[in-house]
Amino acid sequence: MTTLADPVPGGRPGETERASALSGELSSRGVHGIVLSYVDTAGIGRVKGIPTARLPAATAWGVGMSPVFDTFLANDSVVTTDVLGSPDGDLRLYPDLDQLTVLAAQPGWAWAPVDRITQDGESHPACSRTFLRRVVDRAARQHGVTFRAAVEIEWALGLGSAPGGEFVPAVSGPAYGATRQVELSDCTADLLAACAAQGVDVDQVHPEYAAGQFEVSVGALDPVAAADRSVLLRQTIRAVAGRHGLRASFAPAVSGEGVGNGGHLHLSAWRDGVNLHSGGTGRHGMTADAESFAAGILGHLPGLLAVTAPSPASYLRLRPAQWAGVFTAWGLETRETAVRVITGTAGLRDQAANLEVKPVDLAANPYLALGSVIAAGLDGLATAAPLPEQTTGDPARLGAEEAARRGVRRLPESLEEAVAAFRRDDGVRAALGEVLADAVIAVRLGEIAAVAGLDDERVAAAYRWVY
Ligand code: GLU
Ligand code: MG
Repeated sequence: MTTLADPVPGGRPGETERASALSGELSSRGVHGIVLSYVDTAGIGRVKGIPTARLPAATAWGVGMSPVFDTFLANDSVVTTDVLGSPDGDLRLYPDLDQLTVLAAQPGWAWAPVDRITQDGESHPACSRTFLRRVVDRAARQHGVTFRAAVEIEWALGLGSAPGGEFVPAVSGPAYGATRQVELSDCTADLLAACAAQGVDVDQVHPEYAAGQFEVSVGALDPVAAADRSVLLRQTIRAVAGRHGLRASFAPAVSGEGVGNGGHLHLSAWRDGVNLHSGGTGRHGMTADAESFAAGILGHLPGLLAVTAPSPASYLRLRPAQWAGVFTAWGLETRETAVRVITGTAGLRDQAANLEVKPVDLAANPYLALGSVIAAGLDGLATAAPLPEQTTGDPARLGAEEAARRGVRRLPESLEEAVAAFRRDDGVRAALGEVLADAVIAVRLGEIAAVAGLDDERVAAAYRWVY
């Protein structure tokens, strides 16, 4: 297992032997190559591939890749910070063998997420996977708290034959409609089969609200594994769609108007095996710590948006009345508040109770998003932050005075506003560390400049197929 205390060169004791055994096993299963995968600051999945026989060497010595991608934009141009974006230098990608997965929908390939480590064996300060692990480790050390997390995946299926990157929905028919389920029966069955073969426990898959839109939700894992899984799931959905002549868009907004694709985070904090969101004396069974954790997230949400809604296209999605959660409010199962408290069903609550954070999309790097949201919650927990009054119904209907009394504010309405809030949020920036925080700001400003002057439709088109 990859740990902070044990980075790498030369391989961890036992790991190269394990990699040799795995490489032999994969070869015998017809796996020719392994995709080494990570996500950059802009939220783009970047990869390198190695032949299966190279796995032991990659485990011992890593695979080279330039650090320049930390400040790449979604359109592959480069911005810079004081320390990132230079053509100099190299990093090593180290596959996490615990997450190595044979790709059911890409015959001949396996997949593994990587940690990025310097040539001198130090953690790379812009490695988002290492960042998330650091936040989780700190929570355990300082607060005795662990987490279970899941990332919901919404995507729109378009016809692969549509010309020029256009989006032509693969199915019509009503939201949650049986017609769509039947029309895409083979494709969704293949997706379920691929998930089962890859060890991904699917909770539900269904046609969502917007044209051609679907959603899959999966079981909760520790946060790093949950982020890995969201990357793997998207790789899988994309591959399955391709095999059916379709194309999957995970972009926050597939077109300039209408309901977008969310990537809601589900999170529960646990201490000594006990779910802090259930069985407490606070509201809806929350413990005092769970309330403060939610309060921390709510308080930091404006700044967090620069991480959780990182694309200019994110703000085409983040509109009221789309269930995307655009107000700093929380509610019990309320789908218009940014934080939705979920108790679960009687009998299951000690396992199922959790928080859903809605203003998160799949342009977000899931490691940065989970790490920042957890850090914000921990800030609330450390300061025993009081959770404001709950909101019932749509926060948009609250009068100005009532909203102000409850601390209900509209979240940033553009990436510019989110960056401004991020700059003001010392807590979130400190959790990320200077290198990552500066990268976030530089990349967001780069994205803003890249779409300056474009109307909503063109902004959606610019990001439609990249995430
Ligand atoms: N598609 C909505 C969003 O953009 C979410 C719908 C739902 O609550 O599942 O977040
Ligand atoms: Mg949904």
